[in-house]
Amino acid sequence: MQVWIAGAGYGAGRVVAAEEARVPVLDHGITVGDGIFETVKAVGGQAFALTRHLRRLARSAAGLGLTAPDLDLLADGVRQALDANAGADPARVRITVTAGPGPLGSERTGGDLTYVVAVAPFPTPAASVDVTVVPWTRNENGALAGLKTTSYAENVLALDYARRRGGGEAIFANTAGNLCEGTGSNIFVVAGGRLVTPPLSAGPLAGITRELVLEWCGGEEADLPMSALPDVTEAFLTSTGRDVQPIRAIDGRALPEAPGPVTRKAMAVFAERGAADLDP
Ligand code: PLP
Repeated sequence: MQVWIAGAGYGAGRVVAAEEARVPVLDHGITVGDGIFETVKAVGGQAFALTRHLRRLARSAAGLGLTAPDLDLLADGVRQALDANAGADPARVRITVTAGPGPLGSERTGGDLTYVVAVAPFPTPAASVDVTVVPWTRNENGALAGLKTTSYAENVLALDYARRRGGGEAIFANTAGNLCEGTGSNIFVVAGGRLVTPPLSAGPLAGITRELVLEWCGGEEADLPMSALPDVTEAFLTSTGRDVQPIRAIDGRALPEAPGPVTRKAMAVFAERGAADLDP
């Protein structure tokens, strides 16, 4: 695998073999998780919705108080990394930007950002997924709520919790007891005939796929108490890797249909519109 790397002694960017790329061991991204990232899908060497991803990266940087990343440099890095890994199709493009070399503590000294773009084959998503609700909450009022930072250890822990119980994704409630999101996905449910996804005020990441599904397929943003989950008749996850993925069971309760009619429609609309417009 070839990666594109800039900063960290690589200046305005170079493509190098992943095993040879070197990030300083005192990079603040490593020592304190002081960084942000994006996962983008590329098909036939073309990145999907890159403009939206780069805009969200800029929002995450601002939210974390990081120096604004150079988005033109990154867009060029994405192109170079895709060219260097043409065999990966569809490809998972991981963009990571960290605060760069820093002190061991939490304070920043304002070093240059480190940029890395890595490309690997995107695994084919399962046709449907069982989800497990984790027994702790996502803090919708926390400083990192809604930011795509490299401080993802809680998500790693939650996914591990779900996997140990036979689930394919973990779902978080927020501190108000409402539905929030998955570890790497947003959630939509059909309850009382309405397609609903938690609003951004409930703490989920502003998923690009979520945004596109809302724009293309409709649905409402509304708080859903966890106590209403037994009334859900259909549900699906959205993410860059899954697109629209039907949920088969929530905490062991099989949903009547997976995919049900609303989910099938969302899958079809997303597939059609997503194939027609590379940068929606
Ligand atoms: N929520 C979290 C916590 C995520 O990490 C992700 C993506 O990785 C999503 C939601 C889905 O976002 P997107 O559709 O932009 O991939």
